[in-house]
Amino acid sequence: MNQSTKIFPIIFCLLGTPFLSADEPAEIDTNRFQQASERTFKAFDPQTEQTWDKPFFFMQLADPQYGMFTGNKGLDKEKVLVDQAVEHINRLQPRFVIVCGDLTNATPDQARYEAQVSQYQQDFSKIDPEIPLVCVCGNHDIGNRPTAESIARYNQHFGDDYFSFWVGGVFNVVLNSSLLKDPSGAPERLQQQQSWLGQQLQHPRVKEAKHIFVFLHHPLFLEQEDEPDQYFNIPLVRRTPLLAQLKAANVRAIFAGHYHRNAYGQAGEMEMITTGPVGRPLGKDPSGLRIVRVQETQIQHAYHSLETVPDAVAIP
Ligand SMILES: [Zn+2]
Repeated sequence: MNQSTKIFPIIFCLLGTPFLSADEPAEIDTNRFQQASERTFKAFDPQTEQTWDKPFFFMQLADPQYGMFTGNKGLDKEKVLVDQAVEHINRLQPRFVIVCGDLTNATPDQARYEAQVSQYQQDFSKIDPEIPLVCVCGNHDIGNRPTAESIARYNQHFGDDYFSFWVGGVFNVVLNSSLLKDPSGAPERLQQQQSWLGQQLQHPRVKEAKHIFVFLHHPLFLEQEDEPDQYFNIPLVRRTPLLAQLKAANVRAIFAGHYHRNAYGQAGEMEMITTGPVGRPLGKDPSGLRIVRVQETQIQHAYHSLETVPDAVAIP
């Protein structure tokens, strides 16, 4: 055996497995699912991240909804799709990944809930630990009529249900949209979220953000800001004042899921971007994810099926 064959296995061990590949079983990295805490996201330094550094991109996923394909009987299809998404994420190395709700199909009061949470956390733990993973709660995660109890179950597994964080000069707000859809089971929680949101948007530093983004599960609207109420949007009675508040704060874009297909609209200059599912589609858009490129004065975003995610993301 010559010298080079002796050292090759050592180099392979050092370089060949920087993180787990998507088809190996992963341990749950519980710490990464408790980063949303004290109304912020701990992976991002609140001081240094307030300053614009350079253009970046992030990846938005929605509705992995473990259990939906089989009515909670199995999780195989969701796992295959998420494994595909994780491979793209680890290859492209976005600044962060955000999953806009309906992490599981079962609600916290259903028997299969804990098993689905566990599979979700196991599969998403395969994302490179250097890439922050932000989770957003959807109606399946806390129920169509959320209560203090259902929200507490979510908090236990995924941390805060609403919070804000800075990334490279961009201010990001995550909201619990199920409270906006139906606050009747926990009206005090919606009040708390609203008063917190008002304080956040009033902050002098936030007014100087390069962009402000809002992330939630339910689209505020699909195409028209004054469209009639329906299952997939937020009722006008709460939608109209919230849109006015977000416009006044110069929010640049709102990102949602829940629709299981893509939709797009604008409220003035503000974009309402509804992203198709990484899990089961309900329309013509296949399972996929969105790549959002953030530049100092503009953003660009595109949805890609899991079969057509680009090999690299160019940032000008
Ligand atoms: Zn939903």
